[in-house]
Amino acid sequence: MKRVIVVGAGVAGMSFAMQLCKHGIPCEIYDSRQNVSENAERASGILSKKGLEKAGIKYNNSIENNLIGGIVHAGGRELKLRKNRTVAYIIDRRKLAEDMYNELRTGKCAKFRFLKRLTRTELLEFGKDNNNIIIGADGAVSAVASSFGFPKIERYILTYKAVYSKIKIKDVHYVHLFFDNNTTPGFFGWAAPHSESSVEIGIGIESSRKTNSRLAFRKFVETPIIKAMVKDAKYEYEHASIIPVNIRKRTAAGNVLLIGDAAGQVKATTGGGIIFGSLCAKIAADIVYKHITSNAPLQEYEKHWRKRYAKDLKAHMIAHKFYSKLTGKQFGFLLWAANSIGIDSLLSKYGDMDSWLSTINNTLLRKKY
Ligand SMILES: Cc1cc2nc3c(=O)[nH]c(=O)nc-3n(C[C@H](O)[C@H](O)[C@H](O)COP(=O)(O)OP(=O)(O)OC[C@H]3O[C@@H](n4cnc5c(N)ncnc54)[C@H](O)[C@@H]3O)c2cc1C
Repeated sequence: MKRVIVVGAGVAGMSFAMQLCKHGIPCEIYDSRQNVSENAERASGILSKKGLEKAGIKYNNSIENNLIGGIVHAGGRELKLRKNRTVAYIIDRRKLAEDMYNELRTGKCAKFRFLKRLTRTELLEFGKDNNNIIIGADGAVSAVASSFGFPKIERYILTYKAVYSKIKIKDVHYVHLFFDNNTTPGFFGWAAPHSESSVEIGIGIESSRKTNSRLAFRKFVETPIIKAMVKDAKYEYEHASIIPVNIRKRTAAGNVLLIGDAAGQVKATTGGGIIFGSLCAKIAADIVYKHITSNAPLQEYEKHWRKRYAKDLKAHMIAHKFYSKLTGKQFGFLLWAANSIGIDSLLSKYGDMDSWLSTINNTLLRKKY
């Protein structure tokens, strides 16, 4: 009998386990943390309603706020994008992880092993046995990927975020995005309201720019809009983390598959990895099921997920490469141009947070100016 070993109990690892359990195949999930919610708040949870539904993630219990739009700031200009309905949610990442865990525990199909960081030696030992299937769901700095010699991910974003409470938020249903290559080189800053009295402030910078993310964050908090927003606020907590913004060139080899951040299945424009990571995790589980029941090659995973999602992820990579080179002033000019030709209203109407290809198709190609 094959043994399925999942390394990492993040969203990708748990999405994989849920789908595999639907097929009636058990698995073991290892995680170095003491439970699934420990440190879950180091990342944010801005997720499109459409994406959550497509990925089949149960999110109703973990909604903190609903978003109807976003305000983009650059070079002293603003672009307001809005819909007259909820397009995205701010999700409580701890609650989301706990709900996924409870669902898996009830099913009794996945066995969790917490406080167990698998070492390179242990991973290679597991890998030697052809009856074992190893799923690397161990995040941006994947020990599974490095132990089994997968190609490196070339681009990362370093993040720093803090949560503030006891404030009065204006426009509670809008997320603010700030593009300024001086303060946040290669990425952007954000202010995401968790509620009317609490906001998350965060920044990302490209790792190649050799900037200290903590210092960049301190600088960002001193910019006029953010300073005014968190004036007199109560500081709650802060976290540093990392996001891959490149697809790994190979994600399947022998009896090892990589999913989620470990595979680089992240939207490079925004750093969002939950939707694509979960969707690809499900493909991996379907292939593992077919492999166990009818000996289908595990390498099919690579072909299938790339066919479904690589084009979209690459469109995000291209867009990120483009905007990451712009100065705040150049970005501001683009906002002004977008406003002038009315792209804001088209994006508001036809934009898709997850699929840039459908955004381009719907907004630019189908519409005549
Ligand atoms: C600041 C920030 C903001 C973000 N905002 C968003 C957002 O708004 N929307 C969105 O969609 N995405 C967002 N993301 C990205 C999103 O959080 C990730 O894409 C997602 O969490 C990746 O899930 P994962 O399961 O692949 O990896 P992870 O969540 O990183 O889980 C990997 C797990 O593996 C475990 N592990 C690692 N090595 C080992 C080992 N050797 N042995 C055992 N266990 C191990 C770790 O403990 C961890 O629990 C954000 C990320 C950051 C940092």
